[in-house]
Amino acid sequence: MPSTDDELRKLKQVLEIPAGKEWESTVRLLLHLMGENPSREGLRRTPLRVKQALQFFTSGYRQDPAKILNRSFDVKQDEMVVVKDIDFFSLCEHHLLPFFGKCHVAYMPNQKILGLSKIPRLVDVFSRRLQVQERLTVQIAEAINVHLKPLGVACVMEASHLCMMMRGVQKQNAKAVTSSMLGVFRSSEKTRAEFLTLIRSSLVG
Ligand SMILES: [Zn+2]
Repeated sequence: MPSTDDELRKLKQVLEIPAGKEWESTVRLLLHLMGENPSREGLRRTPLRVKQALQFFTSGYRQDPAKILNRSFDVKQDEMVVVKDIDFFSLCEHHLLPFFGKCHVAYMPNQKILGLSKIPRLVDVFSRRLQVQERLTVQIAEAINVHLKPLGVACVMEASHLCMMMRGVQKQNAKAVTSSMLGVFRSSEKTRAEFLTLIRSSLVG
């Protein structure tokens, strides 16, 4: 994002980018810089498709986690709630390349629970932004912690990063695992162990 609207206006003038065509012009420029001819038949609709794809991959910026989490149900339940094997796809903020894998979330209710579908939706909101896996993991756990105020939250994510697989170290099977443990998941070894046992069948290695 440019630092000021003024900067963006100047840039658009220099590049002669018509208003409302910023995305398409930028992708056409990118295609040109990659050594392609943006006007050839096969690439004609590529700028529009890239725009639509990137807008979807970053749609999480325009969604509010509070709206997803503000409806909870009162219960007497005090057993751990676990939602595991949530598929997620995100873009690494260093290379704009995908990283993707599984997310496992648990919380220990404090008189309140969420609808189960809310957790995968929350994962989508934070995944559909430019991310680093560590921050994504923490954001998911903290959003539940802040809005639901449970006794504890745990989030574990395991992901393959295309920026590691296609370039750099080119390790095809390396997976990054990150975790965030809050409340009782941090203070109680027993609770943490119970959660890790429940998700272990999903975790690699
Ligand atoms: Zn990367």
